[in-house]
Amino acid sequence: MNIIDKRNSLASSSSRSYRRRAGSSIRNIAIHHSATTSGSAEAFARYHVNQLGWPGIGYHYVVDRDGSISLCHNLEVVSYHVGNSNSFAVGICMVGDFRTQSLTDAQRQSTIIITRSLMSELNIPVDNVWGHMEFPGYAWKPCPSISMQSFRNWLREDGANLTERPAPAVTYVAGARQRTILNLGDQGDDIKALQERLDELQMHPGPIDGIFGPLTADAVIRFQRVASITVDGIFGPQTREKLRDFEQTGEQPEHASPTDEPDQREEMYRSETRRMLRLISPMMRGADVQDVQQKLGAATDGIYGLETEERVREFQRREGISIDGIVGPQTWRALDRTQGTGVSYQRLLSVQTPYLRGQDVQRVQRALNLTVDGKYGPQTERAVRNFQRNEAIAVDGIVGPQTWRRLFNE
Ligand SMILES: [Zn+2]
Repeated sequence: MNIIDKRNSLASSSSRSYRRRAGSSIRNIAIHHSATTSGSAEAFARYHVNQLGWPGIGYHYVVDRDGSISLCHNLEVVSYHVGNSNSFAVGICMVGDFRTQSLTDAQRQSTIIITRSLMSELNIPVDNVWGHMEFPGYAWKPCPSISMQSFRNWLREDGANLTERPAPAVTYVAGARQRTILNLGDQGDDIKALQERLDELQMHPGPIDGIFGPLTADAVIRFQRVASITVDGIFGPQTREKLRDFEQTGEQPEHASPTDEPDQREEMYRSETRRMLRLISPMMRGADVQDVQQKLGAATDGIYGLETEERVREFQRREGISIDGIVGPQTWRALDRTQGTGVSYQRLLSVQTPYLRGQDVQRVQRALNLTVDGKYGPQTERAVRNFQRNEAIAVDGIVGPQTWRRLFNE
């Protein structure tokens, strides 16, 4: 069984790095699905680093749908995937959304082989191989959406006592070799990887055949234009870096979320002031909830209810962070950057083509109890006119300084 070593080629943060641990502190193997119908170690790494602000990809291993296994981190790396259990767990992620898809035979085989190999290497009993949702605090998370009883039974097959069976043989092989500069006429796996990535970004590189032909060069040029870098059709260091970190719009988010982030030490540090806030029964109450409500312009009753959760989701959507309605470390950080009850007066708001968009529009819509889509359209204008009529000020459907002051007492 070959495992592709991608430890040095995946996207990673230039400023943050994961903590390390002794291998002996590892007690669990965590099984995840990606909750995306497709994906790869490369795509997840970009998502975790660029969207979630993590030091690197959250998983130690990723198993593709065709059964190929990528090694992403040394086992000593305390990456983020199971929140407070991060410090003693190793994460294996199977690509797929198992709420709607099944895992493939090849994927099942590979995942069993790598799990058995880790159990043997780390001396972990089969009962400590857990699905994400079996970890404390994660009963709500549909991950990996396969029966973990069955999975453990597969691990137990052909002999109950794993320690007496030889560990499966695994070999680590280097990922696609990396030449510094790729140009017309070059061939190889690295060209193929380049073509796959260009294809993923809709740059139309032609057939993915591992040959750097004119179509590939055209696609590189297309990408260089989009990325606003030197346009020469040659794949050099600058293009490599841009291409690695480039996020295509509309990429389906992967199931990892900020709640996977804290480990015991970080959590302990934060717990003095920072609980994770979410909608549970009984509802959470406190000054921290009130603080969040104030920042998001919700009724400040200090109870984390439906309205607060909805406001948190809206906020997360605006900020481009994972939308889970939970105030975890990343949302707290984003909230810290938000002053007061939202945006202050920025500009005259009126119906224009195209419609004005922004947080100021959202704030107006919220104040007027409208659907908050952030677009200043006819419906918003009508509501503004009604408001102005009720306030006995000039009725023009335009939010200027006076209307803004009346709306927000600012
Ligand atoms: Zn998971």
